[in-house]
Amino acid sequence: MSKQPEDIIRDEIRALSAYHVPDSVGLVKLDAMENPYALPAEVRAEIAQLAAAAAFNRYPDPGAAQLKARLREVLEIPPGMAVLLGNGSDEIIQMLVMAVAKPGAVVMGVEPSFVMFRMIATVCGVRFAGVPLKADFTLDAERLVAEIAEHQPALIFIAYPNNPTGSLFDAAAMARIIEAAPGLVVVDEAYHAFAGTTFMSRLQDYPNLLVMRTLSKSGLAGLRLGLLAGRDAWLAHVDKVRLPYNINVLTQLVAEQVLRHQALLAGQAAAIKAERARLFEELRRMPGVRPFPSDANFILFKTGAAEQVFNDLKRQGVLIKNLHGSHPALADCLRVTVGTPAENAKFLGVLGKALDT
Ligand SMILES: *Cc1c(COP(=O)(O)O)cnc(C)c1O
Repeated sequence: MSKQPEDIIRDEIRALSAYHVPDSVGLVKLDAMENPYALPAEVRAEIAQLAAAAAFNRYPDPGAAQLKARLREVLEIPPGMAVLLGNGSDEIIQMLVMAVAKPGAVVMGVEPSFVMFRMIATVCGVRFAGVPLKADFTLDAERLVAEIAEHQPALIFIAYPNNPTGSLFDAAAMARIIEAAPGLVVVDEAYHAFAGTTFMSRLQDYPNLLVMRTLSKSGLAGLRLGLLAGRDAWLAHVDKVRLPYNINVLTQLVAEQVLRHQALLAGQAAAIKAERARLFEELRRMPGVRPFPSDANFILFKTGAAEQVFNDLKRQGVLIKNLHGSHPALADCLRVTVGTPAENAKFLGVLGKALDT
């Protein structure tokens, strides 16, 4: 064998740094927007029964018909719209980019936003055009419309609310972008449970709109289930990119069962929203800390010496996300996921001490 990795592996892949997931063993985990509440014992018992009876020797239903029917009802997917499932919404982002990856195609997004949009485009060999948000992390509609005209993107991703900023973009500005786009616009509603507004009900209005959701931030991050809703004229093609059986037997059974407990999930989301308000107020009162308003289950905040504060927190047993250095607009920014009241209290206590020193 004479070839080296640099001869064989594509340049853009070698230039990437791997998506880094830090070790969180023994730490209060407030870094990844997980729901801090476990499922209650009675729901776990139902899951145990389903698992005991599951046909693990068979392939899963490739169309996940029962689960899709439940999702249609619970997520209020408009009648007539098609549904595509992914092993997390990350997989759906990948399917979409692979489906549009013609030579010269452009995928567009705002920045700072969810890093997987750019990363997946890069991995698929598609050019990613990132359009900066305004300094207050709102949408720069004028600039976006201009960049859309210039780059003619096949696909635009907009997270609504946005990660890592937490901002919920102005709906009228979003509509302008959907109308200006020559291709598809995917509104990524990963944080829908904490936002209370949606483009799902607008699918009828826009032939180029797709809406993406995930169960990850609502308490089922470990199951890996994401969903894309929109016109079959688009989704029928994206579905050809999907690997058969991408939603495994357990995910299909468990998600379908847990979604029967709507009130439970809604109650957890309500508790997280109440804690978000409290956490925001506490952060706002801390000298030297500037939290940004959030419609998601996390809060972005700016503080001096962010890197040091992050490391101090970690030493004291609290893991959050350090965004300093990831994008110029995120200098001195840290992101904390809203946890249980006890976790948030611990975070605030340790943060107060870290800022004093
Ligand atoms: C977390 C997140 C996702 C990915 O969710 P999975 O379904 O777990 O893959 C997608 N989009 C945004 C904006 C996110 O923050």
